[in-house]
This record gives sequence, C-alpha cells and structure tokens, in this order.
Amino acid sequence: MQIVFLGLPGAGKGTQAISITEVFGIPHIATGDIFRAARKEQSELGTRVSEYLDKGLLVPDALTIEVVRDRLSKDDTKNGFLLDGFPRTEPQAVALEAMLQEINKPLTHVLYLEVPKEELLQRLTGRLVCSQCGASYHVRLNPPVNEGVCDRCNAELITRKDDTPEAVAVRLEENLEKTKALVAYYDQQGILRTVDGTQSIEQVKQAINRALTEAKA
Ligand code: ADP
Ligand code: AMP
Repeated sequence: MQIVFLGLPGAGKGTQAISITEVFGIPHIATGDIFRAARKEQSELGTRVSEYLDKGLLVPDALTIEVVRDRLSKDDTKNGFLLDGFPRTEPQAVALEAMLQEINKPLTHVLYLEVPKEELLQRLTGRLVCSQCGASYHVRLNPPVNEGVCDRCNAELITRKDDTPEAVAVRLEENLEKTKALVAYYDQQGILRTVDGTQSIEQVKQAINRALTEAKA
C-alpha cells in the first residue's frame, strides 16, 4: 500500500498515521518529522531547514523532494508506506509520481482529511507532542492520561515552536491554496478519497480504515 495523507496542518494526519501504520505494517514517513529530527541532530539538512520551520514557511521543493527520494529508497518501504505532509505542492506531487514510477510502486490511496480552517487554529494552538515518539495530543480535545506525559512511551510532552498563533496563521495561509490544488490534482486522477476530519478521532480512524479496505477490494 502506497498511501498519501493530504490535509492542512492540524487536520489529524499524524494522529491517524500512528494506528494506520501499525495496522498495515508500513512506515509512517512525515517530512515535518524528518526536518525536525535533522534540526535536533544539528545536521546540515537541519541547519538548512530550521528557519523555514520556525516561520511556518514551506521548505523549497527541490530540497524536500531529495529528502523524500532518499527516504523512499530505504528497505522498509518495500511493502509500502504512508506519506504524511508530502506532497504539499504540485511540483512535489509530480516529482513523487515520477519517483514511484521508477520503483514501480504507484500510489494506491490518497486520503484527504478535510477540516475547516477555523477549527485548525484551536487544534494547533492547543497541541502537545511527544518529545520522543512524536505522538500528538491536545490540552483539551485529546489530553494524555497523565498530564505532560506521553501515553505510548512516557516521555515528556512539549509544544512545537511553530504552534504559536503567529506561525499557525502563516502555515495555514501557506498551505490553503496549495492543498486545494493537490486535492483537485488527485481527484482528477480518480484516486482521491475525502474523509470528514471533524469527527471524533475514533470515527475518523474508522472512516480511514473503510476507505483503505474498500478501495483495496
Ligand atoms: P497534523 O499531523 O495533520 O498536523 P495532528 O495529528 O498533530 O495534525 O493533530 C492536530 C491537533 O488536533 C492535535 O492536538 C490532535 O490531538 C488534535 N486532533 C487530531 N484529530 C482530532 C479530532 N478528530 N478531533 C479533535 N482533535 C483532533
Ligand atoms: P508538519 O510537521 O507537517 O506540520 O511540517 C512542519 C514544517 O516542515 C512545515 O511548516 C514546513 O516548514 C516543513 N515541511 C514539512 N513538509 C513539507 C513539504 N512537503 N514541503 C515543504 N515544507 C515542508
């Protein structure tokens, strides 16, 4: 299964990716996670992307595409993968298609988690993420069992630097039109399934599972 999760920042892609990748045994590849890890390691990539991340701007396409190309060449992708946060622009989508053609693994599903912009602001400004495994929580909408601690790995929960109201506004602005264009791009290819991302986390999970299994049948 080669899956793409489309959706604006805060739509719930990371939240849903964890269970989907566990159920289907495929790696969760999130470009945002790759960039943040690179920054933490202070690698050359980390230095190059740091400012974009902080400001909520998109990392240039050429660099992002190279990072994904490298990640998709790893052995763990041989039974498929779930891409979260990539592609985010049409040039990225076109490059992905070419990359997948080369390795003969076309996309099998593109799922769009649709959530209105107004709701995203409150989701993102209340988000907490695990400093170790990256799991996503929300102070009110999806709190951890024990305050400040990840349910999955007991590590500390932190607030992302780009979840401030200012950076969130930039991120939504930066992604709104591009996401719309990608939705149209994949719809035209007849591969897009839209999931109502405003439902509860459990309901969204079930809807995604249905979309994945129905499309397979
Ligand atoms: P993305 O990966 O798309 O940026 P996340 O999965 O990190 O989004 O979710 C953003 C925020 O919204 C988090 O605080 C998360 O706990 C919360 N969230 C995710 N799904 C839902 C949902 N269905 N209902 C309410 N809050 C949600
Ligand atoms: P995310 O974790 O998906 O919210 O992404 C965090 C940040 O990483 C974004 O605000 C961008 O700066 C960068 N980023 C992640 N994915 C991409 C992408 N596909 N193209 C460009 N920049 C990206």
